[in-house]
Amino acid sequence: MNRCHYYTGTLESIARHIITQYDGSLLNTPAPIPVEVIMEKTYGLKLDFQFIHNNGRVLGETVFEDAVIPIYERENNEGYKLIPVEAGTVIVDASLLNCRNVGRFLYTCAHELAHWVIHKELYTGSGETASMTKATRSSETDKAIEWQADRLGSYLLMPKGVVKMAFYHNQGSQNIIDKLALLFAVSRQAMSIRLKEMGLLS
Ligand SMILES: [Zn+2]
Repeated sequence: MNRCHYYTGTLESIARHIITQYDGSLLNTPAPIPVEVIMEKTYGLKLDFQFIHNNGRVLGETVFEDAVIPIYERENNEGYKLIPVEAGTVIVDASLLNCRNVGRFLYTCAHELAHWVIHKELYTGSGETASMTKATRSSETDKAIEWQADRLGSYLLMPKGVVKMAFYHNQGSQNIIDKLALLFAVSRQAMSIRLKEMGLLS
């Protein structure tokens, strides 16, 4: 429990640091955090859109070293094809290009950026990529890594101070969760978890 609290505080400061490096004013103005721009401008990452898996289970994948990665050839129904991918590429599932999926797109980018910032050393040399899947994985280490990327991703999209500011500004209004979710371009569920974590909702 204590360990989680320690990590949470650390991850909150890492999120603030990442945003400040790009544009500190984002910490004072409630608005969607342009994580996909931060990835490219601040971290020099390259975004690539591909159908990663045939069932859409994998939403994002971060490539730490030059590699050959299997991607799904949806158009010709040809199954999987190996493509060369450069280190520092984040592959986002092409299904997230649909404008209905803005929240999920940003969440995936934030999760993958989190992997790049805090897990780069862990993955470099392992020959593995970090991916975001809908299914939960079994190993405890994987769980901890994914938990960290999820938390940091969510702190990036919903920085504590500015979420608090927006919450008090809209306090008393109906559907406050929906309003804030729209303001920060995240899902209702993600915002609700964040507000509970900050003690603003019970
Ligand atoms: Zn992940």
